[in-house]
Amino acid sequence: MVFLSMFKKFYISYIIFSVIISLIFSINKNNITSTSFIYPTKYTDISSYFGYRELFGKANYHDGTDFLAPQGSEIYAINNGVVIHVGFLNGYGNSVIILHDNGLKSLYGHMSKNYTINLGDSVLKGDTIGYVGPKYLEDGRLNGNTTGPHLHLTIYDKNGTRIDPLNIIEKK
Ligand SMILES: [Zn+2]
Repeated sequence: MVFLSMFKKFYISYIIFSVIISLIFSINKNNITSTSFIYPTKYTDISSYFGYRELFGKANYHDGTDFLAPQGSEIYAINNGVVIHVGFLNGYGNSVIILHDNGLKSLYGHMSKNYTINLGDSVLKGDTIGYVGPKYLEDGRLNGNTTGPHLHLTIYDKNGTRIDPLNIIEKK
């Protein structure tokens, strides 16, 4: 009987312990998928910030962040999600858009046409989705509004409003 009551105590402690561990784990998991966004490239120098900037003496609205990454650099999904666009977009050139679990969307512009994902693919944070592209495409068109190879990142919130990517992605 002593053995049985000891066993019961251990068993109850074990159950409580498991519940606490799984609760902690699920909280961490939520943080990782919804709030922790990573840089889209290993290059963290920024050539142009989000917001209004002076361009040729005129005020110009920049709807994202430009990363100084050389042509051919890998581009990473900044969080888990589903690929909802692959191809040319006016202004952005060859580009990819990912819809994330929490309703945010990320757009990667001026890419190479050698995408490493397809429309409808599920991607995980850090997956390579393609590479930084050239200034000019094979048909001679500009690869979007670009003065040279770099990665442009736009982030849309749940309502489709463009927000400053540097407020979302983790500082390095
Ligand atoms: Zn840009």
